[in-house]
This record gives sequence, structure tokens and C-alpha cells, in this order.
Amino acid sequence: MPFSRRDFIAASAALCTSLAAHATPLISVSQPLLPRSRSKRVVIVGGGWGGLSAARHLRDLAPELEVVLLEKNPVFWSLPLSNKWLTGLADDKLLAHGYPTAASAYGYTFIQTEVSDIDRSKRLVITPQGTLDYDWLILAVGIRYDYAAWYGDDRRAADYTLKHYPCAYIPGSEQRALKEKLDHFKGGDLVMTLPPMPYRCPPSPYERACMIGALLKSRRIKGKLIVLDPNSHVLGFGRIFSEQYPDQIVYLPETRIKSVDPFSKTLQTEVDDFHFDDAILMAPQQAGDLAWKAGLIARDGEGKPTGWADQHPVHLHARKDENVFLIGDMIDKASPLFGHYPKTGQMASRQGRIAAREIAARARGVSAEKLLPDSTCYVFTRIEPLEMTRVESRYRFRGDGLIVQNVKQNHDPNPRGEDVQWAKAMFAEFLAFKEN
Ligand SMILES: Cc1cc2nc3c(=O)[nH]c(=O)nc-3n(C[C@H](O)[C@H](O)[C@H](O)COP(=O)(O)OP(=O)(O)OC[C@H]3O[C@@H](n4cnc5c(N)ncnc54)[C@H](O)[C@@H]3O)c2cc1C
Repeated sequence: MPFSRRDFIAASAALCTSLAAHATPLISVSQPLLPRSRSKRVVIVGGGWGGLSAARHLRDLAPELEVVLLEKNPVFWSLPLSNKWLTGLADDKLLAHGYPTAASAYGYTFIQTEVSDIDRSKRLVITPQGTLDYDWLILAVGIRYDYAAWYGDDRRAADYTLKHYPCAYIPGSEQRALKEKLDHFKGGDLVMTLPPMPYRCPPSPYERACMIGALLKSRRIKGKLIVLDPNSHVLGFGRIFSEQYPDQIVYLPETRIKSVDPFSKTLQTEVDDFHFDDAILMAPQQAGDLAWKAGLIARDGEGKPTGWADQHPVHLHARKDENVFLIGDMIDKASPLFGHYPKTGQMASRQGRIAAREIAARARGVSAEKLLPDSTCYVFTRIEPLEMTRVESRYRFRGDGLIVQNVKQNHDPNPRGEDVQWAKAMFAEFLAFKEN
């Protein structure tokens, strides 16, 4: 069943009630959003996998602290399983969840608002409805698309791309727009560009390509998906595409985008020029806006911004500011031995739990036990019949304190809904999800 407008409206109405109950009306930006209680306050910005987990675990580990979660979207929307949803293989009821259920189950305050800035010198979060002071801040704002890499400061081209060629890698209205595009695709060349590494959930664009390939095949659409990939082969998908979808998918690895003109539907790569009938344009990815506004982006050896937020690799506070924690897909490299942690939901959620433990310990004046996160990711490599690969990433400390990564891939030729069970278990942990 598609994710209906009615579901959105119902969830939004419930959430607006929650905002009205907590927030000061739109009078003055400098007005406090909430009255100050006697407890120390943790403000979490971003109600995705990382922020929601941090909120839940903080309430368990430090019930004496006040916890406030700020999120701009009215409804939580899961990107894991969203490829299946896009092609009609997953139910929207599993992906969409209201925030008030989790907030009341765990006992924190949820406010739907878009944070516009952070004043770290005053420990203040700024929103259009008012300001909120904090003792600790957790930034869990995910990613942004780096359209500047294609268009410089041409906002018109960036806005046009987002509107007409959404890739749906950020939770929000893009998901529905992309689903409608796929539902109405009648044929021709559908180009899908991939971002260069690192980006969120590395196997997910390939999984999506398989699903679109299967869709073109089953609907007998006279069209091709042309996948332009600046990276090398991942998980053997090149072979999978040519074996399973020889008439549906053209895969071009190591093909870097040189320029894009969304208005004339053309793009230039180092190999060739392409004209497309329709497209899913994934620009390079970076840490979300607020990490930039808060001045918390890491710099490389030459002093240039890396694009990702500068966290302590173990304790996850910002290197520049121990009152701010940085978690989830927005963070920079974790170790010189492997670079970035995989940018996955489970990884973000585990980091939320680590940040919660750190804050709970610091609030009591002690040090937290050192913990490392982990990640498990389910990727469909074949649609009919279903085949899946489970990618497990585990971490340990080496003798010199550096983090070591161990990745295992298990091919499952006969999956029986393990991905759905995994998602439900995660949602039960941070969204208070219960099966009916
Ligand atoms: C197609 C696809 C498939 C995927 N499949 C898997 C999978 O199978 N398994 C897996 O583990 N991971 C998967 N992932 C990756 C997973 O979705 C991300 O790793 C995860 O969402 C990261 O969590 P996060 O909390 O860092 O960011 P997000 O989940 O993006 O949350 C960030 C939140 O911050 C909010 N926000 C941003 N700015 C502001 C602001 N200024 N004010 C208020 N709120 C703000 C956003 O609205 C958002 O809700 C997939 C991703 C995609 C795109």
C-alpha cells in the first residue's frame, strides 16, 4: 500500500499538537523555546537513527537529565528498506513512524522544528520559534548533497535538480517524488549517477539499480537504466547486472561526472556525454548543514575542509568542543586503518548509544567505559527469486589504541525476511515500535 497523504496529515496533526504543547508561539527568536528546569539539559538535533537512539538511551542511563529532541520532519521515515518500498516490495507502515510515541514511551520532549543555527559560545540552539540552551548538545543531522561540486553557487540548478531528479538519500519529501517518478516511467534512458565514496549505505544504490532493473523487466518497459559510477565495482554488482538485467541496466564503473546541465538533461563524464529522458541524480555527499554552521567540519593535512564533522574517534565529542557530540552519517574518519565507518542506520544508532553513555558518565563526573559501534546491513542482490547479502562490520582496539575493522559478507540465496526482522528490532529499540 502506498504511503498515503492521509497518513502524513494524521501524523503531522499529532506532532503539531506536540509542538503547540511545548513550544512558545512565533514571537521572538531570542525567546526561550522551553522554560529552564533544575535538571541539566541535553538537546539532540536530528530525529534519525542516531538522534532517536541517543534520546532513548539517555533517558535510560541518566534519568536525572532533561532530554529534548528537535527534528524538522513531522514523521520519522526509514531509509533502510526504502529501496524495497520504492518498487512496491515493502509496506509504508513499516517505514513511517510518529515521533510522539517514542517521546512519551521514553519520557523526553519532542519538538518539531528546523534548527537554523548553533551558538556554541552561549551553548544555544536557535530555531525560528525561539532558542534553547543546553549543557550538552548532540548533533545528528545526517548528510547534505554537495551540489556545489557540480554547479558552484548556482542555486537554481541545485533546486531544479532536487525537484526534478531527486535521489531520496535524505528522509523527507524526496521519497514520494522518486516513487512517483518510477511508477510513471514509460521508457527511454533513465540515468542514475552515484556519489563518490564516502556516502550513506554504500551498497544501497546498487540494490536500487537491481530493483529498478527488475521493475523494467517485469513491466516490459522499453527503457534502460544507465548507472554512472565514479567508484570501482562493489559486491560484484557489475556481474549481477550483466547476468540478470542485460537488457535493462548499462553499468559504467569508474565514470566520473565532469558537469551536469539539468535543464537540457545532459551530463558530461570523463568517458562520454549523455542525454537522458529522466534521471536520479546523486550529488556527492557531505555532513549536514548544521555541522558547517557550528564550525565543526574537519580539515585535511592541507587545511581544506574534508566535508565531514570532526569528532573524537572514540568518545564522539567534537574535537573543538567537548559539550557537543557528533554522531551518525555526518562524522569524519574513525581510523587511519580503514577511514570512515560505514554510514549505516545501525552504526548511527550505536553511536547514539555511545554518546548517551558518555554524557551520562560526564554528568556524574566519571569517565565512560570505552565502547565501539557495529553495523549490520542487508542488501538484495537479486529480486526474482530473492537473494540477499548480509554485511557485518565489527570493530576492536589494536594495541596502540587505533580502531581496527573486520567486515564479513554472507550470501543468502534464500532470505526469509531477516531484513524486516532486523528493522523491527531496531525500531523497537529507539521508536518504541510494537507489532500489532
Ligand atoms: C536507499 C537507502 C538504503 C539504506 N539502507 C540501509 C540499510 O539497509 N541498513 C542500514 O543500516 N542503513 C541503511 N541506510 C543508511 C541509513 O539510512 C543512514 O545511515 C542513517 O539514516 C543515518 O542516520 P543519521 O541519524 O546519521 O541520519 P538521518 O537518519 O538522516 O537523520 C538525520 C535527521 O536530522 C534531521 N535534521 C537535519 N537537519 C536538521 C535541522 N537543521 N533541524 C532539525 N532536524 C534536522 C533530518 O530531518 C533527519 O531526520 C540506507 C540509506 C539509503 C539512502
